[in-house]
Amino acid sequence: MKGRNMQVEQADSTVEFRIDRDCDWLVLRFDYSTRMSWAELRLKDPEGTLRYTYMDVHARRAAVLHKQPASTGYAGVPGRIGAGVWTLELIRFQPGQTFSFAVEFGDGELPEGAPEPALFNVSWTDGSERSAQGLAALHLYDWERCADERRRWYRGDLHAHTLWSDGLMTPEQMRDQAIARGLDFYSPTDHNMLHSSWPAGGPLVIPGMEFTSFEKGDWNALGLTAWLDCWGGADGGMRTAEGQRRLKREARELGALRSINHPTHGKWAWQTTETLLEQLDAIEIWNGPHENKASLALWSALWNDGWRVPGIGGSDTHDLPDRAGLDESLPPRLLGDPGTWVYADRLSARAVLDAVRSGSVYVSRGPELDIVIAGGENGFTFGADLTERIEPAEGSESALIPCTLTVSGAAGQNLYVIENGAEVSVLTVEQEQQRFELAFRWHRRHYGWRRFELRHADGTLSAVTNPLFSGAKQPTLTTWGELLEQAGFALPFP
Ligand SMILES: [Zn+2]
Repeated sequence: MKGRNMQVEQADSTVEFRIDRDCDWLVLRFDYSTRMSWAELRLKDPEGTLRYTYMDVHARRAAVLHKQPASTGYAGVPGRIGAGVWTLELIRFQPGQTFSFAVEFGDGELPEGAPEPALFNVSWTDGSERSAQGLAALHLYDWERCADERRRWYRGDLHAHTLWSDGLMTPEQMRDQAIARGLDFYSPTDHNMLHSSWPAGGPLVIPGMEFTSFEKGDWNALGLTAWLDCWGGADGGMRTAEGQRRLKREARELGALRSINHPTHGKWAWQTTETLLEQLDAIEIWNGPHENKASLALWSALWNDGWRVPGIGGSDTHDLPDRAGLDESLPPRLLGDPGTWVYADRLSARAVLDAVRSGSVYVSRGPELDIVIAGGENGFTFGADLTERIEPAEGSESALIPCTLTVSGAAGQNLYVIENGAEVSVLTVEQEQQRFELAFRWHRRHYGWRRFELRHADGTLSAVTNPLFSGAKQPTLTTWGELLEQAGFALPFP
């Protein structure tokens, strides 16, 4: 066994240890003098490849890496346990605190007290394939695997946390919650950690990771196909605006859809003002059960400038169904509340992510919506570009297009039509399932958009759709900071 007791001198530092021969497994145990500090630990092998990530909140202070995926723990990357110098990176530690660790390595049986291998899991990597960044790829995950052939609306959750960052659910518990809540898909988006395997069974699970800066805000990479080292690189990674840009570029190269999380939520708001709007594939307009009015206002400002960025939702649950994790004064957040509904060609990770990209999305705490646009192919739903569909009379550039909006499960609520950011009409939903025959005037050349919101009598939001639009507008805003200014917001958010 190799180990060390030390006093941490700087917030970010490294410690090395040597393994003298190739072996089957490596067990790392560690301890230090803080609890729930959100400090991170990263283990890199002699090739510099990220092999294990840890966040100091709830997870056990031990890791097992194995050449076999089935024997590797959740936060570890399986593969060769090679001879040479391994590096432990300590990120955001408190100077002066103690840190100790012990490493065992060997062949055959794991030592006594080693973390249990994750049973009944599907491995997403065996560590053998690498991305352009040189890190392990999730090459065993099947992005095309189809759980349902039908083209229809599917409901899921695109933002949730397990024990492996700062959530309370084990992956098994999250899978069981996804079943119990009747979801079609869900994405475990742990902070700065990508899962290498997931429990078998249950709804479609889409790999993802929440890039978390702890100072400047968080964004989700949904459908990330390989690890990224969020703290690595000469540019400082998540620490700098330049590093953020690079990571967003690399995440896109790795197939991920990039979404800014809880963009206007107090100290968790997105505060990297230099962020390029062109690096946004989606925005989380609804985080957790409660509406954030500033998020909807900011989203409207994006659309008004011509940036047609799809809005999505996420529970951001860190909780168990009967126990809140981070703030016990609040009721637990439930997986799928709010739910993100996507109109997908089929139920596969690829199809769900494509549907999100195209904006065929609404977010809801319960009501179900559908829209049929007269004369449209059945591809026209929320998020659709109606420009080609407009058939103006001679001498005109605009036309009325009828549509049928069906609302289920919202009796007694009000339906709001939002046009270019302004509320233009309110209709009362009287029946459990109600069809609204509507007609809106759309222009071929003048850019314009309309979305729908359902609200209870007291104004509480229960559903919001992505906009339908026509025409196009060349955006004038380039950065997040310009967007905030345009929308009349100043940092920090309250
Ligand atoms: Zn989160």
